[in-house]
Amino acid sequence: KEELNIIQGALELRTKTVEDVLTPLSDCYMLSSDALLDFCTMSDIMQSGFTRIPVYKNDRSNIVDILFVKDLAFVDPDDCTPLKTITQFYKHPMHSVFSDTKLDVMLEEFKRGKSHLAVVQRVNSEGDGDPFYEVMGIVTLEDVIEEIIKSE
Ligand code: ATP
Ligand code: ATP
Repeated sequence: KEELNIIQGALELRTKTVEDVLTPLSDCYMLSSDALLDFCTMSDIMQSGFTRIPVYKNDRSNIVDILFVKDLAFVDPDDCTPLKTITQFYKHPMHSVFSDTKLDVMLEEFKRGKSHLAVVQRVNSEGDGDPFYEVMGIVTLEDVIEEIIKSE
């Protein structure tokens, strides 16, 4: 029975898309690129419990970097280091995918690449203006695995 659920979940990877499992932008724990790594911000980051934290510039939909919590290992909160100093030092590559990417393809990309988090975009062609890329949220390897092993 449990095995059947897992097989079912694995088969559904071919039909479900990233959009079905993403964490919406409004729920993402993120940091502003002009944040200072003072005691307050660093304890907030630790309390969030997340390992990878998108960094946005000016607007939450404009994600420009990913901070890994392990990047903070040598940061002293007393120095109030600008977050930019850290992100510019590590420069983790940012991985973007379209929201209609099938989960089996996404899983392969996570297996191939180094990062286990991707920023999800879609083309917004509603309205009168030119179509534009719109950030919808983030997806991690965990979200895809969850889809396989979720028991109903
Ligand atoms: P890890 O398990 O590798 O330490 P993590 O616990 O930070 O990482 P994941 O396990 O990759 O995160 O993901 C768990 C869930 O949290 C997923 O649904 C994912 O979309 C979501 N998630 C990951 N990072 C964030 C974040 N910065 N803000 C909000 N949700 C996030
Ligand atoms: P993350 O990807 O969440 O940053 P990580 O890279 O430290 O974590 P995992 O991705 O969980 O580690 O594991 C990668 C591989 O490294 C796994 O095969 C795991 O068993 C192994 N591994 C994890 N921690 C250690 C460790 N302390 N010593 C040796 N091998 C480890």
